[in-house]
Amino acid sequence: MKLNILGCYSATPRTFTNPTSQVLEIKNHLFLIDCGEGTQVQLRKHKIKFNRIKHIFISHLHGDHFFGLVGLISTFRLLGREADLYIHAPKGLKEVIVLQMKLAQSWTNYNLYFHELTSTSSELIFEDEKVEVHTIPLDHRIYTNGFLFKEKIGERKLDMNAVLNEDIDVAYYRKLKQGADVPNKKGEIVKNQMVTLPAPQPKSYAFCSDTAYNEALVPIIKNATALYHESTFLEKHAKLAAPTKHSTAVQAATIAKLANVEQLILGHYSTRYDNLQDFKIEAQTIFNNVELAEDGKVFEF
Ligand SMILES: [Zn+2]
Repeated sequence: MKLNILGCYSATPRTFTNPTSQVLEIKNHLFLIDCGEGTQVQLRKHKIKFNRIKHIFISHLHGDHFFGLVGLISTFRLLGREADLYIHAPKGLKEVIVLQMKLAQSWTNYNLYFHELTSTSSELIFEDEKVEVHTIPLDHRIYTNGFLFKEKIGERKLDMNAVLNEDIDVAYYRKLKQGADVPNKKGEIVKNQMVTLPAPQPKSYAFCSDTAYNEALVPIIKNATALYHESTFLEKHAKLAAPTKHSTAVQAATIAKLANVEQLILGHYSTRYDNLQDFKIEAQTIFNNVELAEDGKVFEF
């Protein structure tokens, strides 16, 4: 998996920082997660192919998470997009976007589908042979979901030395990868475990922004490979976190520890802070493996 951070600050776009947007590359998909103002410029800057984005996931309808969307939809049209586009977002987004297109009399020339979310419990919202996406209900001032992107367990690996030793016909390799016992050339049944190795452990990425400290999300994101958790505030402004329903770096780290994730990525910083290292230092008092999101940074896991 490869995570491209396009923007990771809260509130307003500024000269050198952008509001929330990221692109996750997973099993040949490019998933766009949130679409703050300036997202299409960031996509161009980081050479991400527009037409490979088929699914957009919007966490909530605060402007710093979706004000770039109507512009992106319009640019797709101007570029002659033909591929379908699916937008998974809280109910209400369709009304906003359709009104803007209606008043501009500029409908898309590609199919645009809105998958409106209303559930307050975690639900499966996308699935194919290799990937699943689930919502992560968050605790924010308005209806908000994070998203859990999970690889499905893949095929077993062939232990080629063992396969050749057992003299198994190549026609059976596919069945072996799927876990079946198969006959060798002498007609004897070979146990699958004798000639294959377990499939690699599936990876997962949890995106949690925006949210107050919320232990209810721990079981949903348990053992994730990487967790992006918002940390809008440092401890010295902890009093602001509860009323605005945001988190501090220490709270983000506490969730990471409780959920036993491998890696924590912090982001959604308030624009009042100049030194991001302080977020890392505070989080590392609770949880060791902490990285700071920064616009343009790429994480691979
Ligand atoms: Zn918000």
